[in-house]
Amino acid sequence: MPGFEVFGAEEKKEIMDVLDTGVLFRYEFGEQRKGIFKVREFEGKFAAYCGAEHGQAVTSGTAALKVAMAALGIGPGDEVITQGFTFVATWEAIFDVGAVPVFTEVDETLNMDPVDLAKKITPKTKLIIPVHMLGAQARIHEILAVANKHGIPVLEDTAQAPGGKLNGKALGSFGACGTFSFDAVKTITTGEGGMIITNDEKLWRDMSEYHDHGHDHAVNPGGRGGEGRSFIGFNYRMMELQGAIGLAQLAKLDDIVARQQKNKAALKEAVAHLPGVTFRTILDEKGDSASFLAFFLPDAEAAGRVNKILAANGAGAIAFGSNTWHFYPKWEHLLAGSTLAKSGWPFNDGKGKRRVVYDADVLPQSAALMARLLVYQVPVKLSEERLRQITEALNKAVNY
Ligand SMILES: *Cc1c(COP(=O)(O)O)cnc(C)c1O
Repeated sequence: MPGFEVFGAEEKKEIMDVLDTGVLFRYEFGEQRKGIFKVREFEGKFAAYCGAEHGQAVTSGTAALKVAMAALGIGPGDEVITQGFTFVATWEAIFDVGAVPVFTEVDETLNMDPVDLAKKITPKTKLIIPVHMLGAQARIHEILAVANKHGIPVLEDTAQAPGGKLNGKALGSFGACGTFSFDAVKTITTGEGGMIITNDEKLWRDMSEYHDHGHDHAVNPGGRGGEGRSFIGFNYRMMELQGAIGLAQLAKLDDIVARQQKNKAALKEAVAHLPGVTFRTILDEKGDSASFLAFFLPDAEAAGRVNKILAANGAGAIAFGSNTWHFYPKWEHLLAGSTLAKSGWPFNDGKGKRRVVYDADVLPQSAALMARLLVYQVPVKLSEERLRQITEALNKAVNY
């Protein structure tokens, strides 16, 4: 996930356009901004890149989830289903709007298992959030089929897969809306930042107003101070410098994905020599943003032995099964209900009564997969030397 690898002159040029005017705010400042609206331009270009009608830029990928859920009307009393393998941000945002996250198993796509999804729907389920983890596609058609049967909207958390597609259609553009992150380690970065895409004009308007304290953004003689509002909002505005960087990074996205695909193929070739290795199911290789190479060993012990050899030879892989930020049984603060709120919210109902309990053992299918999983992050720039080091480490691991 390497936007930072390709940061250069193009980003500087876009930033200078903003610094030359001194207007850092995305709205207002008439003459002074000389027609430069970087955030607005970034929204338009990003949405068009994804084949969507509208883009709404916000301050982070987590804010994107929050703003999208607010606009979808999600709140207390609602359940939102997501997958047990994701970054903590996905369910933090669910709690933050007052709803309760419910977790599904993942299958060999390492994304939401549609069969388990169907079992977890209750009358309280108001939203489904599949995540396109590690750069590649969730089974979005099957997930939408389950969701549509129950009339539940789908929000795709596409934070880890900008530039990814399924049969030519951009990830994030299948459901009611899709959210993206441009944080420091994502495929394209604005330092901090996020985006929501949608084809639903009303949903976009609600997101636009909510993310800016409710401002209706209607042209009126009183300017911004005279704008009306229809509901309470918050501040999740992206600033012009971020929009500027986003424009330069977006222009590089196709090239980033192409280079990652090439480097991923080289790494995969080297990994394929491990006896008994199998690869994560990728639904559409051409649409894989190729940010990661994920592979399974026959069992947890084998994965542990292999990774020990790889690490000793300077090419250790990520074992997401024991990663504390991405996998349900490792979220000890969720399991324990740890919160700063004196009332115990969101785990307690505010009157001291436990509202929701999470049990570490409820996702056995995911646990079995994650224990056998090893992952390499695929860089945009992979030197021959580094590839040789990884290949040699893998060659030493073949007798694990
Ligand atoms: C990074 C990430 C987010 C949150 O994005 P931020 O911009 O860091 O807030 C949300 N979901 C997933 C799956 C992520 O990887």
